[in-house]
Amino acid sequence: MLILDGKEVSKQIRASLVPRIESFKSKNGRAPHLAVVIVGEDPASQIYVRNKKKACESVGMTSTIHALRADITQNELTEMIETLNNDEGVDGILVQFPLPKHLSSHEVLQTVSPDKDADGLTYKSLGYFFAGKPLVSPCTPKGVMSILAHYKIKVEGLNAVVVGRSNIVGKPMATLLSEANATVTLCHSKTKDLVEFTRKADLVVVAAGKVHLLGKDDFKKDAIVIDVGIHGSGQGQKVQGDVRFSELQGWVKAATPVPGGVGPMTITTLLENTCLLAENRTGR
Ligand code: NDP
Repeated sequence: MLILDGKEVSKQIRASLVPRIESFKSKNGRAPHLAVVIVGEDPASQIYVRNKKKACESVGMTSTIHALRADITQNELTEMIETLNNDEGVDGILVQFPLPKHLSSHEVLQTVSPDKDADGLTYKSLGYFFAGKPLVSPCTPKGVMSILAHYKIKVEGLNAVVVGRSNIVGKPMATLLSEANATVTLCHSKTKDLVEFTRKADLVVVAAGKVHLLGKDDFKKDAIVIDVGIHGSGQGQKVQGDVRFSELQGWVKAATPVPGGVGPMTITTLLENTCLLAENRTGR
């Protein structure tokens, strides 16, 4: 079984970003800049935000963390994002979810200017994306496509099943696979007999958010299995996916591990997106 190593693919993509960032710096006198907004004290979110800042710095980009108190009002948060929208020195904005319950995530996300939407998740960004003219693509599905491309896995003509239909992962994943000429089936929690579909697929992307949902018996021999799921990412917890990876050896053709598969690709794609937005905004 070929292990699809997201850390290695990430390393190579990050290395390819360095000269682009150098060139941007020499033309603009500053590095591409990602602003990350975090509200409250959620420990997992704080780890994610720190990792994003470190990742930016690792390729020579700038990242500022805007840590806001948990009781901030919707209006105050909106104003804060508007300030970042209007700041010429900010190229990408990312709002770390989840937000405290009194804030509307939907409303907050739509405040982000689409030309600074590093996650590619505002309705306008998604509209362009689903119309086949993306400003940037949602990070996780784009990261999965980068893994497949790196390992020269030809998607055209494959029967692909995507498990999960969220706006962040499942739906855009199905779109990207379809654009790459796979024949795609999108499954979800109301799918009758999920494994009926997964067992026939050449390529299965699992993004259900259910720990160890699928294992060897649910895939056909020589299938390609991409596990998007992440569970237990808090301190001291064992990180696990939606797939029972240890069962797959000797059965499937290729699979992503958790950790070290799709996860690193999501952050790396965020860097790629920020770089692209910076280049687009400044015309370079
Ligand atoms: P959501 O909870 O938003 O969506 C889950 C989807 O899976 C829904 O469409 C749901 O169906 C479907 N689903 C749930 N249970 C089943 C089941 N038993 N059988 C079939 N379908 C099912 O999750 P996300 O899309 O945001 O994330 C999915 C997973 O990916 C999570 O573990 C998350 O942590 C992880 N993730 C990992 C990232 C990474 O970088 N590796 C990035 C983003 C997410 P329905 O629509 O009917 O409710």
